Amino acid sequence: MKNIVIIATGGMIAGSGEAGRTTEYRAGTVAVADILKSVPQLGKLANIEMISLMSVDSNEMDEQKWLQLREVINQQAARDDVDGIVVTHGTDTIEETAYFLNLTVNTAKPVVLTGAMRPATATSADGPFNIYQAVALAADDQTYDCGVVCLFSSTIYSARDIAKINNYKIDAFSSPNDHAALGYMRDAEVFITSRPVSKHTIHSKFSQLEYSTLPKVGVAVYYAGAPAEVLERLGQDCDGLVVIGTGSGNYSQA
Ligand code: ASP
Repeated sequence: MKNIVIIATGGMIAGSGEAGRTTEYRAGTVAVADILKSVPQLGKLANIEMISLMSVDSNEMDEQKWLQLREVINQQAARDDVDGIVVTHGTDTIEETAYFLNLTVNTAKPVVLTGAMRPATATSADGPFNIYQAVALAADDQTYDCGVVCLFSSTIYSARDIAKINNYKIDAFSSPNDHAALGYMRDAEVFITSRPVSKHTIHSKFSQLEYSTLPKVGVAVYYAGAPAEVLERLGQDCDGLVVIGTGSGNYSQA
C-alpha cells in the first residue's frame, strides 16, 4: 500500500456547530484524526500519517502560513517512504493556497487539497467522503506530476483553475473561463481526463527558490465610479498592486 501524509490546517472540514446544522459553525475545532476515525475504509486505501499543522479558518491564512505549509510539504515529499500528500483546508481561500503551492512546492508527488462545505457535526457532512477520495487520489499513479490538485465532490481540479463559485452547496467549485476540470472519481477510482500544460511544481522556477518573506501585494477591484484614492492608500503599504478591472482589465481614467 502507498504511504500518504495528511496535513491538517483547519477549515469547515474540521468545524463544529449545532448537531445536524450546516451554518453557524466554528472552523478548525474538530481534530482531523477524529474525522479519519469516521472513515474506516481509509485503512484499505493507504497507510496514513497525520500532521496537525494548524487549526484555522482559512480566512486567517496568510503569506507566513503558506510558507510554513510549503516547507512541511517539501519535507514530507522528500521522504522516500512518502508517496503522496493530502492537505485539509477551509474552502474560502483554498484556491489561493492551492495556486501558491502549485507554483512553489518542489515535488512531482501528488499533493491533493480538500475541504468541506458542511461542518463535521452536520447531517451528511461531506468532509469524510472528500478525505476518502483525496487519499485515493494522492495514492494513485495517475496523479503523479499533475501539479497541485483539489478534490471536491468527486471532481479533480487543477490548482491553477479552481474557483469557489457557491457558498451553500457541497458541489461548490468549478474551473471557470472554459478550463475543464482534470477529471473525476467514482468512489476510490480515479479518472484523469486531461493534464495541465502550464508549468507547475518541479517545472516552475519558483519551486527552486527559498523564501523567508513574500512581497506585499494589494488587490483593488474596479467598479463603475470606484474612487481612485484607494490605489494611493494601497500604494503606501504595498510593494505592488493588482487592479481587477472590467472586461479584459479596464478601468477609468482616474
Ligand atoms: N470559513 C471556512 C473556511 O474557509 C469555510 C469552509 O471551510 O468551508 O475555513
